[in-house]
Parts: sequence; C-alpha cells; structure tokens
Amino acid sequence: MSEHRAFEQRRADMVNEQLRARGIDSPAVLEAMGRVAREQFVPVHLRDSAYEDGPLPIGAGQTISQPYIVALMIEALDLEGGERVLDIGTGSGYAAAVLGCIAGEVFSIERIQELADRAERALTAQGFDNVRVRCGDGTLGWPEHQPFDGIVVAAGAPAVPEALKHQLTLGGHLVIPVGGEQGVQYLERVTRLSDDEFRTEDLGAVRFVPLRGEQGWS
Ligand code: SAH
Repeated sequence: MSEHRAFEQRRADMVNEQLRARGIDSPAVLEAMGRVAREQFVPVHLRDSAYEDGPLPIGAGQTISQPYIVALMIEALDLEGGERVLDIGTGSGYAAAVLGCIAGEVFSIERIQELADRAERALTAQGFDNVRVRCGDGTLGWPEHQPFDGIVVAAGAPAVPEALKHQLTLGGHLVIPVGGEQGVQYLERVTRLSDDEFRTEDLGAVRFVPLRGEQGWS
C-alpha cells in the first residue's frame, strides 16, 4: 500500500472508531474529518502517530487536540455550511482546516508566532484559501471581522471572555473549556440569545493547555 493510501485508511478508521462509535453524528463533521490530512499538521517525526486516539506535541510546549475533541467541539457549533467562524488557538492549524471544510470563512488566531507561521504554511499547502491566520491574543477576538456565527477556543480559560461573547451573532455558539489552569476543565457552549442574554450548557470534562492573554490566564 502506498503511504498516501495507508494514511487514508487510518483516517477512515479514525472516523469510524473514534468519532462515529462515540456518538459524533453530524454528516458535515464526519465528512470534513474524513477529508483533512491530519498527518500534514503534525511534526514530520510524528506523522505515523497522526491518527492515534490522543493529543500530540506540536512544539513550543503546545499540542494538537485529540481527533474526538476536535469533532466534539466543531459539532457543538451546529454549522450548516457557509458561516463565518473564529478559531482561537490555531496551534497546528488542524482544527482550522476541519472548520474550513464546513464554514464559509475561518479566522484563526494563535499567540505563538512560530506556530502561527507553521500553521499558515500547512493550510496554504493543503489548499485552504478560506482560512486566515494571525498572531495575537485571541481572548480579545477579532473585532474587525465580527460578528461570528461560531467561535471555538482550543485552550482552557478561567472564565468565558466577555469580548468573545459579544462577537457572536444572535443564535451563534461559543465553545470553550473553562476551569482550573492545570487539570480538568469543563467544555461550555455559550449561545447568544439577545444583545446581552446568553445561555450556557455543559458538554463534559476536558483537558486543555491554558488560554493566556488579557481575558485568560496571565
Ligand atoms: N486547534 C489546535 C489546538 C492547539 S492547542 C490544533 O488543531 O492544533 C491551543 C493553542 O492555543 C496553543 O497553540 C496556544 O499557543 C494557543 N493559545 C493560548 N492562548 C492563546 C490566546 N490568548 N490567543 C491565541 N492562541 C492562544
């Protein structure tokens, strides 16, 4: 089997065994996760592990999230296609790529320049021309491009950043881990009901690297 075919097979197995079997059932999410070449977003020496059921180191002390967590968070955004989405914590660029398969436009912010540059190169090489990456503090959102139909944050916050809530469209969802700086956090889904009314749902326990910034950890 060629290397390319071998990765395709592992990707299909990941979608069935790690996502479908655990209850991910959005056709858009399953299709997108079956399309994005995750091996292109991990360090070269870890490509063989790209479809394992866990997070992997991507340099600068950060990680690419476990495939199931990426699927769970994106499914919770309830996207139908064509939306404008904000992705905080670009990291490897993998989640931004999955979002890019579903949404119309993706704006992604990464705090660490080296990771932002690498993610941007991987996204361009994989043909994602609807994903924009910039280096900066994502806790403040991206005011020039608001409002967003969905916002997804891949790092744990002490509390839901006010700036992000107010960059949602009415009916839009923000999915974010909230809790302690180390250890367990809870994945929360915040839905904007009106100018200043929000509903919060708990999606379960998760573990993420800390969200560092003005409305995150110092
Ligand atoms: N979605 C990523 C997961 C990256 S891990 C992927 O698919 O690979 C979370 C990332 O959030 C790390 O790269 C970390 O540097 C970044 N991060 C932490 N605080 C941030 C902030 N305030 N703004 C933007 N990125 C931040």
